[in-house]
Amino acid sequence: MQYMPDAVPGPEPSFDDATYWANCTEKKLTFQQCGSCKAFRHPPGPFCPKCQSDKIDWVAAPEEAKLFSFTFIYHPAHEAVRGRIPYNVAVVSFPTLGGVRLITNIVDADPGDLEIGMTVRLVWGKSGNGQTIPLFKKG
Ligand SMILES: [Zn+2]
Repeated sequence: MQYMPDAVPGPEPSFDDATYWANCTEKKLTFQQCGSCKAFRHPPGPFCPKCQSDKIDWVAAPEEAKLFSFTFIYHPAHEAVRGRIPYNVAVVSFPTLGGVRLITNIVDADPGDLEIGMTVRLVWGKSGNGQTIPLFKKG
């Protein structure tokens, strides 16, 4: 499944998020949890923003999340997305993981279909560069 056209750049793993993307390639959605104070964070980073610890645990996310926020894009800000509008950009949260949030797309949603707080479910897709990426569908 691919939500955005091939011409839209996909993620390029960096030193800090290489584990995150490698886990995504194996269709495992994981988040960093501080090994000291247990706070979750995303995007991945080398230190905990709450206690500055460099101890990192990777924790698997559940398949269900809550829709925290979203918007539909109607104006193609780039030629690559002209054929894709309207598309959505969503923020989902994971209440069982301290409310950690992820920016994503809801793949099966037309304008008017989404409601903040609704349950959404993880599905796996591909970006234009072939990276496996976490997407979501309605409950
Ligand atoms: Zn911490």
